[in-house]
Amino acid sequence: MNPVVIAIDGPAAAGKSTVAKLVAKKLGYTYVDTGAMYRAVTLYVLQKGADPKDENISCSFLPQIDIEVDEQDHVFLNQQDVTEEIRSRAVAENVSYIASYKKIRLFLVELQRKIAKNANVVMDGRDIGSYVVPDANVKIYQNASVKTRAKRRYDENISKGIACTYEEIEKEVKKRDYIDSHRSFAPLKKAKGAVEIDTSEMTIEEVVQRILEIVQEKSGVQK
Ligand code: C5P
Repeated sequence: MNPVVIAIDGPAAAGKSTVAKLVAKKLGYTYVDTGAMYRAVTLYVLQKGADPKDENISCSFLPQIDIEVDEQDHVFLNQQDVTEEIRSRAVAENVSYIASYKKIRLFLVELQRKIAKNANVVMDGRDIGSYVVPDANVKIYQNASVKTRAKRRYDENISKGIACTYEEIEKEVKKRDYIDSHRSFAPLKKAKGAVEIDTSEMTIEEVVQRILEIVQEKSGVQK
C-alpha cells in the first residue's frame, strides 16, 4: 500500500509547522518541513557571500549542496546541523527569491517526493498539494489574516531573542506572500481539492482537531 500523505500548504506564518508537527505526532507519521529545505539553500548562498536575487549564481551552487532532514526536524546542510541558523532574519528576508528559481525547486521537490514515497508523512509548504504530491490523501490550505500571522511571527522572534519590530515583520510577511504567490513555477495557491482553514480566530488545539477530523473523513485514518 502507498504511504499516506497529508499536505498542509499556506502563506508564511500561518502556523503550519506547529500544527503539522502535532498532527504528525498524533498519527505517528513523519513531519516534513519543506520550507526548511529552501531556507538551507538560502543559507548556503548567503554563506558564499552571493546575492540571493541573482538566479544564475544562486543556482550554480546546487552541485555543492547536500540537504538532509532527520526525524527530529533537524536540518543538515552538507552534514552541518543548521536547524537554528536557517531561522535568522537574513534567511527569512531572502528565502522567497531562492524559492522562485525553477532549478532550485526541482532539486528540492525530488528530495521531497522521495521522502513522501517511503513513509507516511505530514508535509508542510506552499506547493505540496498543488505540485509536489498532487494526489496527496488529504490537502489542507491553512490561512490567517496578515495581522495575525505577523503578530505570531513577531512574538516567536521575540521569544527566541531575535531583535525586530512588528512593522518590519508585517512588511516581510507581505513581501514573502507576494513573491510566493506570483512566481511563475509552482506558486503558492490553494490546491484543487484542498480544504481551507482560516486559523485567525482558532487555537492551535482547535486547528489540530479540525485537521484530524478531515483526515478521518477523507482517508479513514483513525486518530
Ligand atoms: O515555511 P517557511 O516560512 O519556513 O518557508 C520559507 C519560504 O520557503 C517560503 O516563504 C517560500 O518562499 C519557500 N517555500 C516554498 N515552497 C515550499 C516551502 C517553502 O516556496 N514548499
